[in-house]
Formats: sequence, structure tokens, C-alpha cells
Amino acid sequence: MKIENNTVATFHYDLADTAGQRIESSRAGQPLAVLHGAGNVIAGVEAALAGRVAGERFSVTVPPGQGYGERREGLVQRVPKKYFRDASRLRAGDTTMLSTREGQRVVTVAKVGQSVIDVDLNHPMAGRTLVFDIEIVAVREATPEEVEHGHAHEPGGHHH
Ligand code: ZN
Repeated sequence: MKIENNTVATFHYDLADTAGQRIESSRAGQPLAVLHGAGNVIAGVEAALAGRVAGERFSVTVPPGQGYGERREGLVQRVPKKYFRDASRLRAGDTTMLSTREGQRVVTVAKVGQSVIDVDLNHPMAGRTLVFDIEIVAVREATPEEVEHGHAHEPGGHHH
């Protein structure tokens, strides 16, 4: 079965930058289970998965426009420490979750002060060209419930 809309693709991935520096990998845990066509992965990866079958292994290079977007200047904000759950442990360069009006988002710590922390609201992977090495583990038809929810129900997918 080929990966197309309303199928669930299960795959392992290794992610590196264009210099071959490893960023993250699914190999230590469960493979990712993704409902195809629902925008659950970045556009460049979703496009590369289309038409693949179980057992295929391939690399795809994803530019920022097909990934997490370009870095934007002026997105550094000063936030009181009380808005962070883990303020005492944070150092410059760390990523953490911050509650904003638009919901939880990943931010990067730019500078830690006495009572405030400067955070960069750009996604940590914004502006980066990403190289994915992907191995398709399985492809199956999505259930009507998964299609309705817009995500896969599997160990490597969505948890309720
Ligand atoms: Zn669900």
C-alpha cells in the first residue's frame, strides 16, 4: 500500500543539518505514526512521503520554506520568570515551553536576568535547512475515527 491521503504512515527518521550534524532521531523510541495529508508533519516531509511503501529508505533535504519557516528578527521578548515552570534551571540556548495567548509554544532562551528571561519566539529550527533520513516501517488505511480527528491513533501517534 502506498502512502496517500487517509493512510497512516509509520516511519523512523534521523534528522541532521546540511553539515551532517545530528539534531534528533526517532530510533531510540517508537517510530512516528502520522495520518498523511493532515499537516501533522512539516510540508517538505509530507510531500516526500507521498507514494512511498513500507521498507523504503530515502533522504530528503527540506529548506526553511518547506520546514519551520525563516527566522524573523525582532521576536525576542522579555518575560517575567514567574511565567516559566522551570525558570531556575534555564540557561541561554535552552529551549522551553511558554504559555502565550496563542497557546503553548517552544521558545529559546536568549538571556537570563534577575527576575526576567529574554526569549526568542522563533521556532528553534526556523531558518534551518533540514536533512531527514527516513525509513518507512508500515503503511495502512486510516480508520474513520482517525480521519475525523486528523491524527493517527498509535503508540507513535496521538495520545488521548
Ligand atoms: Zn484522536
